[in-house]
Amino acid sequence: MSNAKPIDLRSDTVTRPSPEMRRAMAEAEVGDDIFGDDPTVNRLQEEVARLLGKEAAIYLPSGSMANQTAIRSQTQPGDEIIVHGESHIYHYEGGAPAGLSGCSLRLLSGQRGLFDAAAVRAAVRPTDSHFPQSALIIVENTHNRGGGSLWSIEAIAEIRKVADEFALKMHLDGARLMNACVATGHSPPQYTRYFDTVSMCFSKGLGAPVGSAVAGSAQAIRRIHRYRKMFGGGMRQAGIIAAGALYAIEHNIERLAQDHANAKRLATALAAMPGVSIDLDAVETNIVFFDLSETQGEAKALCDTLHERGVWVLPVGPQRVRAVTHLDVSSDDIDRAIAVLRTVLA
Ligand SMILES: *Cc1c(COP(=O)(O)O)cnc(C)c1O
Repeated sequence: MSNAKPIDLRSDTVTRPSPEMRRAMAEAEVGDDIFGDDPTVNRLQEEVARLLGKEAAIYLPSGSMANQTAIRSQTQPGDEIIVHGESHIYHYEGGAPAGLSGCSLRLLSGQRGLFDAAAVRAAVRPTDSHFPQSALIIVENTHNRGGGSLWSIEAIAEIRKVADEFALKMHLDGARLMNACVATGHSPPQYTRYFDTVSMCFSKGLGAPVGSAVAGSAQAIRRIHRYRKMFGGGMRQAGIIAAGALYAIEHNIERLAQDHANAKRLATALAAMPGVSIDLDAVETNIVFFDLSETQGEAKALCDTLHERGVWVLPVGPQRVRAVTHLDVSSDDIDRAIAVLRTVLA
């Protein structure tokens, strides 16, 4: 067991608030946010609305609640949601579209979590009482299980045309939207203008301890406000945690480029190691997937060995491993991780 601090590449959710962020949180002005009285929450919501180019925004305890209140507020029980079969909303939110909104999901396929307007058009249900009613299209950018993949503006614009043709709403699961913006150079509104509602996470690569937001029209956000309370997400002196989110959007967006560079460097080194296969072009942001040949044994065993040596990564399939870079992993840490990987895989 190495004595050095473990290099935790399991997820960008593992980041911890920095001393400066903690200070901002400790000093936050607070009030009762259920009464709309918390000045820090109010400031965060204004900043997020501005950042995302929308009329209003609302702070929520988690990304799942952000997505699920956006779904609940834009659907009726019995409606169908068009979404990728590898999406977070389908795999990792506890079946909430069915459980909380009474909606079924029409799952699309497509490389790396992406799909096109033709696939959406083919999935829209005819207006006929036999069928569920198509109501909402969801896009995830960057796409988590797709390997941090990036959407093009053009693909989204084409999907919006289909949405308008059939009067469907569009929600963006933008848990890592800031990674997409930093990687492409697009401003957030260049993406968000095509969507009725947009969620983003503060507790992933942005490094805040808690929270997400949804942005949209004032009317859309008023409706979500109601469902946030119904789902148990109304908070009182939430300014304490909102201050961490404010600090994150003020200080930790541009630096995501370092995480992307670190991911690329890790991926490039892995590509040269024996029994590892990796698609370097697919490493576009901060998520690295790689596959092990049978000769290297199974992913779980490799991850256990690496863990003992202070490098923490996740097995995500029998032969597949995921590593995610973030603000608590420095460039030196990546060098150390590469050295350990080289030794273990030699
Ligand atoms: C992490 C994540 C979420 C939200 O997850 P919570 O753990 O509920 O905050 C939503 N969408 C994507 C794509 C994510 O990666």
